[in-house]
Amino acid sequence: MQPVEATSPETDPTTMHDDGASSLAALTAFDRCDSAGCTAAAYVRARLSSGLELVFCAHHGHELIPALAGQGASIRDDSHTLIENRSIGA
Ligand SMILES: [Zn+2]
Repeated sequence: MQPVEATSPETDPTTMHDDGASSLAALTAFDRCDSAGCTAAAYVRARLSSGLELVFCAHHGHELIPALAGQGASIRDDSHTLIENRSIGA
């Protein structure tokens, strides 16, 4: 006879160490890069520790993610959908 496990196997450890990035809304076609002078479609959303949210195109997002993350911002990077959309449309 084995003792009943106290810990539930349904507890997903990947949700436990989530830093909040998954709570950021997905980027849509209406989101445009917040970088000055850039009007490209946004694929990266960042929530600063102050609560302010910014969106960036893949180019500016990848440029700024290291700095934003270093300041404690939560990052959602949807730039991989660039490639997915392209293959779906092909
Ligand atoms: Zn941009």
